[in-house]
Amino acid sequence: MSGLVPNARSRRIEESATLAITAKAAKLKAAGLDVVSLGAGEPDFATPGPIATAGIRAIEQGNTRYTAAPGTPELRAAGAKWLSDTFALDYGADEVMVTAGAKGALHMALDAIVEPGDAVLILAPYWVSYPALVTMADGKPVVLPAVPDAGFVHDAATIDAAFARHRARGIIVNFPNNPSGSVPTRAQVQAIVDVAKQHDAWIVSDEIYSTLLYDGATHVSPAALPGGRERTIVVNGFTKSHTLTGWRTSFLAGPKAVVDAACRIQSQVLGNPCTISQAATLAACQQALPEEQERRMRAFDERRRYLVTEINRIPGMKLAAPRGAFYALVDVRELCRTRGLDDVAVCEQLLDRHHLAAVPGSAFAIPGFVRFSYAAAMDQLRAAVTRLRAFAEAK
Ligand code: PMP
Ligand code: GLU
Repeated sequence: MSGLVPNARSRRIEESATLAITAKAAKLKAAGLDVVSLGAGEPDFATPGPIATAGIRAIEQGNTRYTAAPGTPELRAAGAKWLSDTFALDYGADEVMVTAGAKGALHMALDAIVEPGDAVLILAPYWVSYPALVTMADGKPVVLPAVPDAGFVHDAATIDAAFARHRARGIIVNFPNNPSGSVPTRAQVQAIVDVAKQHDAWIVSDEIYSTLLYDGATHVSPAALPGGRERTIVVNGFTKSHTLTGWRTSFLAGPKAVVDAACRIQSQVLGNPCTISQAATLAACQQALPEEQERRMRAFDERRRYLVTEINRIPGMKLAAPRGAFYALVDVRELCRTRGLDDVAVCEQLLDRHHLAAVPGSAFAIPGFVRFSYAAAMDQLRAAVTRLRAFAEAK
């Protein structure tokens, strides 16, 4: 036996909790169990026809070789136009990089800005991968506890104090938020920009759910606000809105110096994002497919309303209506108290006894809550509610 082991940094990286639970649910399903899988958030709709066709055409036409490391010039320009038309963001093609999913964009962005030991603020509840991505960039994740009573939007004074205490290099924000579905007002986003400016810090803005909004909510990027553009790195794309999940493309946009740095990193670690997927993503930029988008949003909204109504009828559970994304973050604190369980045990029992997969809030630094994805068909959600009720009523 050799004494060789993976390094200390990699040993600090846990497997993604969302993906681990989804893998466990898939295993039970493969073993023949009737599992309702509301773990990972992935739309149940297929990639829209015209987008998939553009990918197929790329293969048929032999468009299958390397591209420039930051993505094709056409796609970088189309990405800049999409960001401008949709979110009033002002980037040139050379300030947009194409990369492998929002995950890849976050990874490249953090690698490009974090110095070893730098603190990076993360607002709980946060998407599971942020602390690991900061750690991999040799930074120090600093988590600000969740504020459920404030609609999950931290006030500027709290963020300001954390910047001062930790001398943080930057902050990761994610609105619409996974897992809470919160969407701040323009004034709240401006307040975060103002605090970051005061501390001369970066904002990494994960906007991957920015077109999935309900109840009249609007998305405002920090980069679109005064003082925001020069310190914000925007992460956005079509993975969630157009089911480009498996295609692995997205955009990173920001000040040219940091985009150039990310491009250099990408040229060394990735080469280029998948050529075929870039052709599909170009089609997504060029064709808005409004009917398809409306159909999806109607379906998500119907599911969201159904869950809000039904879950609030279950003893010990509460659900505030999410305003964006496609997750229901259910408050099970009362049920945990009466049962003597924590949210991890709740999810274990839901999966083992009721074959319902969900993610414990602890994975997002919000213990006492459980996250259900409603990017799943209505019959799955009805089955989930029946199983949740059975769980809540079991002695
Ligand atoms: N950010 C958030 C908030 C997410 O929920 C996800 C889910 N996958 C990602 C980034 C990564 O998305 P992608 O598939 O584009 O890498
Ligand atoms: N982002 C989705 C989720 O939160 C997909 C899984 C993942 O990449 O973490 O469930």
